Amino acid sequence: MRNVQTVTGPVPADQLGVILPHEHLIVDTYDVRRNSEGVLLERAMMVDEVALFKKAGGETIVEQTVYGLHPDPEGLRDISEKTGVKIIAGTGFYWDMYHPSWLHEMSVADITKRLVAHITVGFPGTDIRAGFMGELGTHHRRITPTETRVLQAAAKAQIETGTPIGTHALFTEIGVDQLNILEAAGADLDITVIGHCDTNRDLNYSRKLLNRGVWIAYDAVGQLDKQTDELRAQSITTLVREGHGTKILISTDIAGRSRMVAHGGQGYGYLLIKFLPMLKSAGLTEAEIKMLTQENPQRFLAGK
Ligand SMILES: [Zn+2]
Repeated sequence: MRNVQTVTGPVPADQLGVILPHEHLIVDTYDVRRNSEGVLLERAMMVDEVALFKKAGGETIVEQTVYGLHPDPEGLRDISEKTGVKIIAGTGFYWDMYHPSWLHEMSVADITKRLVAHITVGFPGTDIRAGFMGELGTHHRRITPTETRVLQAAAKAQIETGTPIGTHALFTEIGVDQLNILEAAGADLDITVIGHCDTNRDLNYSRKLLNRGVWIAYDAVGQLDKQTDELRAQSITTLVREGHGTKILISTDIAGRSRMVAHGGQGYGYLLIKFLPMLKSAGLTEAEIKMLTQENPQRFLAGK
C-alpha cells in the first residue's frame, strides 16, 4: 500500500492500525467563540490524553486543525514522538467566520499552490508535511465565494498530489452542495469524505451522498447533543447492511476541554472502549468493525 505522510515521516498505509480519522489535539477557537471550551493548548495534558487512546488500542489520529483553528504541526510532532501514536496533519481552511482576511484575496490557483506546498514541502517554517486536506468547512446553510474557492483549490491540489480531502458539513444537507463543487472541480470521490454526516439524523442524506460515490463520516460519535450513540450505531449498521460499509469512516471529532478525560470527559479512547461494543450490539461482526476502524481509513488515507 502507498505511504501516508505522518508528522514524523512517511508510513505505509497498512501499518497505521486502528485510526481515528477526524480529531483535534491542539486547537484554539477563542478568537471566534470567546470561550475557553475550544482551547486545547496544554501539551502535557494532550500527551496524557493521546496515551489513553493508545492504551485503548489506538494507533493513528488524523488531526484536522486547519487555518482558522490555529494549527501547530511542531506541537503535533512532539505529541507523536512522546506517545508513539502516529499523527497525520490536515491542511486547509475552516469555514468563513474563521477565515484569515488574506484568504478572501486569494484565487483558486493561489490557494492550490499553498495546499500543494504544505503537502509536498511542509508547513511554513517546518519540514512537516500535511498528509490530508481538511477539515474544509462551509457554513451549514450557504457556501460563500471564499469557501467555494477553497473547495475548488483542494480538488486541484488533489489532482496534483493524490491527497485525500475531508469536509465540515453540519446539520443540514450542505454536504451535497460541497460535493457538487468538489466533483465539478475534478475531485476523486474515492478519496473524498463529507464530514459530520451524523449531525443530520436523516439517513436519506447519508444515502444520497453514498449513492454518488463519495465517502461519508460519522465522526461525531460521543456528541450526544446531536443524536444518541445507540442510534448512530443502528444507522451505521443499517448502511452497512445496505452495502455501503466500504465508504464509511467513524471518529469522535474531539475539540473541547470538556471532552478530555482530565476534565471528566470521554477522551480519545471512547470510540474504542464504548462505541465499538454498541456497534456489536447493533449487529455488526468483528470483521465489519475492523473494516470501519482499520481497513476503510487505511485505504482512504493511502490516497492515489
Ligand atoms: Zn468540523
